[in-house]
Amino acid sequence: MKIALIAHDEKKKDMIQFTTAYSPILKSHQLYATGTTGALISKKTGLPVHKVKSGPLGGDQQIGAKVANNEIDIVIFFKDPLTAQPHEPDISALMRLCDVYLIPLATNMATAEVMVKGLEHGDLSWREIVKEQEGNDI
Ligand code: PGA
Repeated sequence: MKIALIAHDEKKKDMIQFTTAYSPILKSHQLYATGTTGALISKKTGLPVHKVKSGPLGGDQQIGAKVANNEIDIVIFFKDPLTAQPHEPDISALMRLCDVYLIPLATNMATAEVMVKGLEHGDLSWREIVKEQEGNDI
């Protein structure tokens, strides 16, 4: 599965804690992340991460484009609800695309934990079936 990881500055510590704790599960998947989040994750956990641009410089939109192209299966986005973000329109657009394309989106650690445990148990395998069916339609 292709998993996108994004964390606002105030949530980056949480993202490191989360990816460290769940690295035994995450290491079997392909990880994508916005620039700063991705650099931190690979430095602190050693997990390989495909990085796009930093969020405020278009990274959220790049992840959104991947969602629209069916190239991301899960989005884990630790949002900071207490700080205004200059790229709020990009954040809303990414979240909207997750809803458009039925991509599981966790916006806080509590939901992300449920999602990753579900991933481990195969609860998200339907994403592979959907992708296979779409591949057959082309
Ligand atoms: P960053 O972007 O990982 O480059 O900090 C995250 C964001 O603010 O959307």
